[in-house]
Amino acid sequence: MHEYSIVQALLERVEAEAAEHRAAAVHRLHIRIGEASGVEIELLRTAYGVFRDRTLCQNADLSIVPVPALWECPRCLAPIPRGAILRCSGCAVPARLAAGDEIVLDRIEMEVADV
Ligand SMILES: [Zn+2]
Repeated sequence: MHEYSIVQALLERVEAEAAEHRAAAVHRLHIRIGEASGVEIELLRTAYGVFRDRTLCQNADLSIVPVPALWECPRCLAPIPRGAILRCSGCAVPARLAAGDEIVLDRIEMEVADV
């Protein structure tokens, strides 16, 4: 499943960051998921719940911010309203996705031991 591989990649990233900062624990992950990324947020949460076991993220919350899809005309850059046909009415060209296809790890809250 798509979401499972995303979570695995996410956890690997976090483990690497945590190791780099010598973190003792991870408290919270902040991620952004675009509406057009094809990721089901509920499935992602479920996958996270399964995979975080016995990792540094075992007790870390997952904070997900959904990003709405934003379409625009590639020629005149006019935004295409939500729910409208995905084509510029002025230029008659297909709209392109300007935002909302991202899967981004924004921030990791972790506990760093004093040195
Ligand atoms: Zn246009």
